[in-house]
Amino acid sequence: MSVNEQNYKTIFEKTKAAGACLVAVSKIKPVSDIKALYDLGQRDFGENYVQELVEKQPQLPADVRWHFIGHLQSNKVKYIASFVHLVHGVDSEKLLLEIDKQARKNNRVIDCLLQVHVAQEETKFGFDGAEVTALIDRIVSGSLALPNIRVKGLMAMASFTEDVETLKQEFTAMKTLFEKNATHEAPNLKLEILSMGMSGDYELALEYGSTMIRVGSLLFGARGY
Ligand SMILES: *Cc1c(COP(=O)(O)O)cnc(C)c1O
Repeated sequence: MSVNEQNYKTIFEKTKAAGACLVAVSKIKPVSDIKALYDLGQRDFGENYVQELVEKQPQLPADVRWHFIGHLQSNKVKYIASFVHLVHGVDSEKLLLEIDKQARKNNRVIDCLLQVHVAQEETKFGFDGAEVTALIDRIVSGSLALPNIRVKGLMAMASFTEDVETLKQEFTAMKTLFEKNATHEAPNLKLEILSMGMSGDYELALEYGSTMIRVGSLLFGARGY
């Protein structure tokens, strides 16, 4: 199998020691790799592409928790709404409204994370800190009604850099924003999850307060696009 079992055990233990959750990012990787990690006990898997997720989901056991971690287009929500466990990258009000609508059609509540833009790169999606705070205020006050959504936290992608100081600054900014907004609560909003940290920076992310890391290449090997 092309799953790195030793890395899995190490990362799993470190995540557990930090009281966090490990999402194994399986984009581009075959179902057989996912099954291999499943057999080692992993249940949370992250995918980036709707079509790929829709193809893989029926081929794996029903107790897999599928995290959608990519950029989700509103017109594709309907394909994953019946089974998705957590949508990490919610970056617009339009998308929130569409997830709410599709969740209602499927008679369920869908858990979501709001994506925050902390990285210096221009290309990363997400709200800035002020926007996310304003959005949370509107959800809590009820002026934005989302009965079939539960906002469970925030998600961020740090800069793609090896500069530890930059990463520390970004993780700290996220943690501060998270704590500030965690005092707000409503029936459909409670910030419990801070999703940050990938193969290159997961240890630092855990140290800086991440509660959910998304790790791909360390578990499944590099992705050959
Ligand atoms: C691909 C991806 C990951 C995993 O990246 P690795 O560097 O392979 O661990 C994590 N989060 C998001 C949003 C991704 O797209």
